[in-house]
Amino acid sequence: MNPASRRPLVAGNWKMHGSRADAACLINELVARGVGTGSSEAVVCPPFVHLEEARRRLEGSRIGLGAQDACAEEQGGYTGEVSAAMLADAGCRYVIVGHSERRALYAESDDLVARKFLAAGRHALVPILCVGESLAERERDATRTVILRQLDAVLGAAGVPAFGRAVVAYEPVWAIGTGLTASPAQAQEVHALIRGRIAENDATIAASLRVLYGGSVKAANAAELFAMPDVDGGLIGGASLKADEFAAICAAADR
Ligand code: PEP
Repeated sequence: MNPASRRPLVAGNWKMHGSRADAACLINELVARGVGTGSSEAVVCPPFVHLEEARRRLEGSRIGLGAQDACAEEQGGYTGEVSAAMLADAGCRYVIVGHSERRALYAESDDLVARKFLAAGRHALVPILCVGESLAERERDATRTVILRQLDAVLGAAGVPAFGRAVVAYEPVWAIGTGLTASPAQAQEVHALIRGRIAENDATIAASLRVLYGGSVKAANAAELFAMPDVDGGLIGGASLKADEFAAICAAADR
């Protein structure tokens, strides 16, 4: 169990799923189930086009709103992109940056992820910085190197104070959408590594930094993962699309 100073956070990454009506229905169900009313914090990250619908439906609830990505630039000729300022204006408080699907499918570099992290901060959004190793990297014993490289790129660009209002999500690529989950011990080892790196720069910020685990979290395995001392909640993909599963995961994060 993480210390009381770190309020657990469970964020749902809906990815590219569902119609506006589906988004409305899912949010209504989450609100009806009392998601967000426990001691942990709950956030949903719908696709961009459903943010306005989500914002309206979430009004008066305790569930926060986030986005799945943001452009690193402020404005201009970036066809198809959405800026951090637009996300803040749309009612978002959180934004995911550096998700492994964006790194792998859209060739997002560590440098670009760092610039997205900075853009989020400029508009008072809380970045959820994703880091994680592939299966090949784990098998050749490169997990530590990869995680620290991804983290250091952002630390170098933004400085440690920026982590005072950021969240880090450890998402092993081999566990995302595969049904394979890191064991609680494997997750704890990497979470401690992440917190340790931040502590080398600022122990106070490290102690209050929330580090989420993501990768095939479901109601059945959430409690054992969240019981680890450096696991402060989860970033949830597939299971966040099912109201009962997401509600149960949020409940598992409550103290
Ligand atoms: C994710 O996409 O961030 C994720 C963790 O997905 P899943 O829970 O489906 O593995």
